[in-house]
Amino acid sequence: METLQFIEEDFPWLMPSFAFLMGAIVGSFLNVCIYRIPAKKSIVSPGSTCACGQPIKWYDNIPILSWFILRGKARCCGSNYSFRYPFIEALTGIFFLAAWEAHSPLKALCIMIFAAMLVCGSFIDFDHMEIPDRFSIGLAVIGFALSVLIPELHGFDRADFAGASINATLQSILGILIGSGTILWIALLAEIVLRKEAMGFGDVKLLGGIGAFLGWQGAIFSIFGGALIGCVGLLLWAIAKRMISSKRTSNDEALLGRHIPFGPMLAGGALLYSFAMETAVLKYFAQFEKLFQ
Ligand SMILES: [Zn+2]
Repeated sequence: METLQFIEEDFPWLMPSFAFLMGAIVGSFLNVCIYRIPAKKSIVSPGSTCACGQPIKWYDNIPILSWFILRGKARCCGSNYSFRYPFIEALTGIFFLAAWEAHSPLKALCIMIFAAMLVCGSFIDFDHMEIPDRFSIGLAVIGFALSVLIPELHGFDRADFAGASINATLQSILGILIGSGTILWIALLAEIVLRKEAMGFGDVKLLGGIGAFLGWQGAIFSIFGGALIGCVGLLLWAIAKRMISSKRTSNDEALLGRHIPFGPMLAGGALLYSFAMETAVLKYFAQFEKLFQ
């Protein structure tokens, strides 16, 4: 830790740059996962291949940069690569950088794992309108395990007191139960009011996973913060669509209907909490607790 302090004082840009770079590399791996996991293919072998079957050379597989150097076209056969690849790499890089800037090193590491899993799950949700169980339930299992091992994730320092690990474990369990429970009730009420299925059971499981990492306060914030992000996002999307074509397309109908993935919005709320809102939200809920004392 002392060495880290020394590095941070003399080269303040070094660790943040390293965090971004790590994120971009992880993002490159997430691109593989997003494509292969729903297709039930192995995520480790074979290595990255082009759509034409040719293996991609390492120098054409540099996160973010390669896409711009090759101008989005494969070197082997010229087929188009989606802009989504460098976008996900840059996005994951920014998330890792934000985690590093917002938290102590140990907690930042946990939040990086959390963010990477959310990016992967969200884009699978965009593509397939479903979050695989291995994400939502995997998120809960990993969040719980990290809480036991690294109590700093929930703000408990092992150096301060012996019960840190137990407290963090309890906070994680409460997060799973209150997170999934709250959204389950909202889903049930929405179903009664709207007379149709408003949310999938996948969102309930995802919220349990978010709670395992962020505790119950973070889970509850993710629901409402996520709903807000969703509203703003849909509004911007609708305005952009309007500006491109004044005609209403069937795509709009789908958007205004029930085919809106809620998972990415919940993930957005969770990340907003992790990077910027945690202190304020914890203070807000602590005031409530005082009322009952
Ligand atoms: Zn090719």
